[in-house]
Amino acid sequence: MGATLVGSVEEMSLVYLDHAASTPMRPTAVEAMLPYLSEQFANPSGSHRFARASRRAIDEARDQVAEVLGVAPGEVVFTSCGTESDNTVLAGVGGAAVCSAAEHHAVLHPVEHRGDGRIVATDAAGHVDLDRLAEACDDSVGVVSVMAVNNEVGTVTDLAAVAAVVREHAPRAVLHTDAVQAPCWLDLRSVAPLVDAMSFSAHKFGGPKGVGVLTVRRDVDVAPLIVGGGQERERRSGTHNVAGITALAAALVETDRERPAELVRIGALRDRLVDRLTGALDGVVETVPRERKVAGSAHVCIAGVENEALLFLLDEADVCASAASACASGAMEPSHVLAAMGVDRELALGALRMTLGHTTTAADVDRAAEVVVDAVEHLRARGAAS
Ligand code: PLP
Repeated sequence: MGATLVGSVEEMSLVYLDHAASTPMRPTAVEAMLPYLSEQFANPSGSHRFARASRRAIDEARDQVAEVLGVAPGEVVFTSCGTESDNTVLAGVGGAAVCSAAEHHAVLHPVEHRGDGRIVATDAAGHVDLDRLAEACDDSVGVVSVMAVNNEVGTVTDLAAVAAVVREHAPRAVLHTDAVQAPCWLDLRSVAPLVDAMSFSAHKFGGPKGVGVLTVRRDVDVAPLIVGGGQERERRSGTHNVAGITALAAALVETDRERPAELVRIGALRDRLVDRLTGALDGVVETVPRERKVAGSAHVCIAGVENEALLFLLDEADVCASAASACASGAMEPSHVLAAMGVDRELALGALRMTLGHTTTAADVDRAAEVVVDAVEHLRARGAAS
């Protein structure tokens, strides 16, 4: 990007391994949005030539997004984030709702709030249990939502298998996938034909925060969550975030172009990181086998440490990672995903999520491995002494 931004990862020489939480913006995305943050400020819904320039930018972005996602331009709905995309489908379709127990809360909470929600167990790798899914499906089901890639442990769902079950047992249901974590790792053109609706969020693939996409198949009805000016063919009202939408499209196109090479590069870095940890430390368990998860996911459970203390030491050493445990009523609780997978509670409290992405280097993973090993040895020694 040229200059170093004050407070940025570069300036602080941080090792950033939290790409599943948010990715650094791609310079091409920043560049794409700049004109729409300054001179090109017109409302795209206007009728003058200045407005038409903004509208053209949205039309071009829509075409680019549709091409990468394997849908028609008319099936792309721009939203404010992945959460809004998920909520729109879960609130906008009648009948009972079904989802997997490992979904992001942007799906789980709306399903729970409906009162007719059916939450389906997963296997030990976090994949929805297909027999239980079949049991949960019947003619009364209006919507089924199963995520494409799990945000916590990185499991890739076999959506062809899910679709076969849903089409057989709940033939009237809208099949939605939360694909927020997918664009860096999966070619969505092969996912799109399997489902009726997909959710995305720009900040997970090098775009800005505050802009997302919902795709909805042309012949499927999803009531809008936000009504008003009738933008997005009445599917999502509100003045378009022109800058965000142009940047989302630029980031998505670049992500798609780089994906084949990045899968190899990042997969090798992830393997190097995890191999170093398992080689140097006893009691490090890979939560999901590598062949079942995305290349950027390094999720491990480390026996004999609590991740709260571990993350504190990592932060002190300028390594950014996460744990996804929630502090409920003063006591640390394992995440709902690890609980659904049946991971032993003690082990789950030592969960460490490191997620790699387009800016990750070999130096990053080597430094992270060194810091994690030191921190775990320190915490175990302290535990043994007390
Ligand atoms: N779904 C998944 C799988 C996610 O990982 C996230 C964000 O972490 C969301 C939905 C929510 O996306 P957003 O942050 O754009 O609201």
